[in-house]
Amino acid sequence: MTASPTPTTAEELRGAGLRVTAARVALLETVRDGDHLGVEAIASGVRDRVGHISLQAVYEALHALTAAGLVRRIEPAGHPARFEGRVGDNHHHIVCRSCGAVADVDCAVGDAPCLTAADDHGFAIDEAEVVYWGTCPDCSTGRSS
Ligand SMILES: [Zn+2]
Ligand SMILES: [Zn+2]
Repeated sequence: MTASPTPTTAEELRGAGLRVTAARVALLETVRDGDHLGVEAIASGVRDRVGHISLQAVYEALHALTAAGLVRRIEPAGHPARFEGRVGDNHHHIVCRSCGAVADVDCAVGDAPCLTAADDHGFAIDEAEVVYWGTCPDCSTGRSS
Protein backbone atom coordinates (compact mmCIF):
# COMPACT_ATOMS: atom_id res chain seq x y z
CA MET A 1 0.00 0.00 0.00
CA THR A 2 2.70 2.50 0.95
CA ALA A 3 5.36 3.11 -1.67
CA SER A 4 8.73 2.74 -0.02
CA PRO A 5 11.61 4.66 -1.63
CA THR A 6 14.18 2.00 -0.73
CA PRO A 7 13.52 -1.60 -1.76
CA THR A 8 13.06 -4.13 1.00
CA THR A 9 15.49 -6.99 1.36
CA ALA A 10 12.90 -9.30 -0.18
CA GLU A 11 12.50 -7.00 -3.16
CA GLU A 12 16.26 -6.93 -3.64
CA LEU A 13 16.35 -10.72 -3.67
CA ARG A 14 13.54 -10.82 -6.19
CA GLY A 15 15.25 -8.15 -8.27
CA ALA A 16 18.37 -10.30 -8.38
CA GLY A 17 16.30 -13.17 -9.74
CA LEU A 18 16.33 -15.16 -6.50
CA ARG A 19 13.48 -16.97 -4.85
CA VAL A 20 12.62 -15.15 -1.65
CA THR A 21 12.80 -17.25 1.50
CA ALA A 22 12.83 -16.17 5.13
CA ALA A 23 16.28 -17.69 5.49
CA ARG A 24 17.72 -15.74 2.56
CA VAL A 25 16.23 -12.48 3.83
CA ALA A 26 17.65 -13.15 7.30
CA LEU A 27 21.01 -14.09 5.84
CA LEU A 28 21.32 -10.95 3.75
CA GLU A 29 20.35 -8.80 6.74
CA THR A 30 22.82 -10.62 8.95
CA VAL A 31 25.68 -10.14 6.49
CA ARG A 32 24.86 -6.45 6.05
CA ASP A 33 24.54 -5.81 9.78
CA GLY A 34 27.79 -7.61 10.44
CA ASP A 35 31.37 -6.75 9.73
CA HIS A 36 32.99 -9.32 7.45
CA LEU A 37 31.39 -12.26 9.22
CA GLY A 38 32.47 -15.86 8.88
CA VAL A 39 30.02 -18.66 8.09
CA GLU A 40 29.52 -19.69 11.73
CA ALA A 41 28.72 -16.14 12.81
CA ILE A 42 26.32 -15.76 9.89
CA ALA A 43 24.59 -19.04 10.78
CA SER A 44 24.03 -17.90 14.34
CA GLY A 45 22.74 -14.52 13.16
CA VAL A 46 20.28 -16.23 10.83
CA ARG A 47 19.15 -18.54 13.66
CA ASP A 48 18.54 -15.52 15.87
CA ARG A 49 16.20 -14.18 13.20
CA VAL A 50 14.35 -17.20 11.87
CA GLY A 51 15.14 -20.12 14.14
CA HIS A 52 16.96 -23.29 13.22
CA ILE A 53 18.76 -23.52 9.91
CA SER A 54 21.38 -26.07 8.97
CA LEU A 55 24.92 -25.02 8.17
CA GLN A 56 24.43 -26.63 4.78
CA ALA A 57 21.45 -24.37 4.08
CA VAL A 58 23.52 -21.35 5.13
CA TYR A 59 26.27 -22.36 2.71
CA GLU A 60 23.75 -22.80 -0.10
CA ALA A 61 22.11 -19.43 0.57
CA LEU A 62 25.50 -17.71 0.77
CA HIS A 63 26.47 -19.27 -2.52
CA ALA A 64 23.25 -18.07 -4.19
CA LEU A 65 23.55 -14.53 -2.83
CA THR A 66 27.24 -14.31 -3.72
CA ALA A 67 26.54 -15.52 -7.27
CA ALA A 68 23.75 -12.94 -7.56
CA GLY A 69 26.14 -10.18 -6.50
CA LEU A 70 24.28 -9.22 -3.32
CA VAL A 71 27.03 -10.53 -1.07
CA ARG A 72 30.77 -10.43 -1.54
CA ARG A 73 33.01 -13.24 -0.42
CA ILE A 74 36.52 -12.47 0.70
CA GLU A 75 39.07 -15.11 1.43
CA PRO A 76 42.30 -13.88 2.98
CA ALA A 77 45.01 -16.49 2.48
CA GLY A 78 45.18 -18.81 5.48
CA HIS A 79 41.92 -17.52 6.97
CA PRO A 80 38.35 -18.79 6.63
CA ALA A 81 36.09 -17.01 4.13
CA ARG A 82 34.25 -13.89 5.26
CA PHE A 83 31.17 -12.32 3.74
CA GLU A 84 30.06 -8.71 3.48
CA GLY A 85 27.19 -6.70 2.09
CA ARG A 86 29.35 -3.94 0.63
CA VAL A 87 29.54 -4.97 -3.02
CA GLY A 88 30.41 -3.49 -6.36
CA ASP A 89 33.02 -0.91 -5.37
CA ASN A 90 36.14 -3.07 -5.55
CA HIS A 91 37.26 -1.95 -2.10
CA HIS A 92 40.13 -3.74 -0.44
CA HIS A 93 40.76 -5.24 2.95
CA ILE A 94 43.37 -5.07 5.62
CA VAL A 95 43.80 -8.25 7.63
CA CYS A 96 45.49 -8.70 11.00
CA ARG A 97 48.07 -11.47 10.82
CA SER A 98 47.61 -12.16 14.49
CA CYS A 99 43.86 -12.33 15.15
CA GLY A 100 42.38 -12.24 11.62
CA ALA A 101 40.44 -9.00 12.14
CA VAL A 102 39.32 -7.51 8.82
CA ALA A 103 38.69 -3.87 7.94
CA ASP A 104 37.64 -2.13 4.73
CA VAL A 105 40.15 -0.06 2.78
CA ASP A 106 39.02 2.16 -0.07
CA CYS A 107 41.00 2.27 -3.27
CA ALA A 108 44.25 4.10 -2.70
CA VAL A 109 43.55 7.10 -4.94
CA GLY A 110 40.31 8.19 -6.57
CA ASP A 111 38.21 5.84 -8.65
CA ALA A 112 39.52 2.27 -8.62
CA PRO A 113 42.88 3.16 -10.25
CA CYS A 114 44.18 -0.30 -9.50
CA LEU A 115 41.85 -1.57 -12.24
CA THR A 116 44.08 0.20 -14.74
CA ALA A 117 46.84 -2.33 -15.04
CA ALA A 118 50.15 -1.21 -16.48
CA ASP A 119 49.79 -4.05 -18.96
CA ASP A 120 46.44 -5.82 -19.25
CA HIS A 121 47.75 -8.53 -21.61
CA GLY A 122 44.54 -8.14 -23.61
CA PHE A 123 42.32 -9.18 -20.70
CA ALA A 124 39.09 -7.33 -19.89
CA ILE A 125 39.80 -6.61 -16.23
CA ASP A 126 36.86 -6.21 -13.84
CA GLU A 127 38.43 -6.68 -10.46
CA ALA A 128 41.70 -6.10 -8.70
CA GLU A 129 42.28 -8.05 -5.51
CA VAL A 130 44.51 -6.34 -3.01
CA VAL A 131 44.92 -7.54 0.56
CA TYR A 132 46.89 -5.47 3.03
CA TRP A 133 48.41 -7.47 5.85
CA GLY A 134 49.46 -6.10 9.20
CA THR A 135 48.79 -6.05 12.92
CA CYS A 136 45.58 -4.55 14.27
CA PRO A 137 45.65 -1.97 17.10
CA ASP A 138 44.43 -4.53 19.66
CA CYS A 139 47.19 -6.96 18.79
CA SER A 140 49.97 -4.39 18.51
CA THR A 141 49.24 -2.94 21.96
CA GLY A 142 49.32 -6.38 23.50
CA ARG A 143 45.69 -6.28 24.62
CA SER A 144 45.89 -6.21 28.44
CA SER A 145 42.87 -8.23 29.52
ZN1 LIG B 1 44.66 -8.49 15.65
ZN1 LIG C 1 34.79 -5.09 3.02
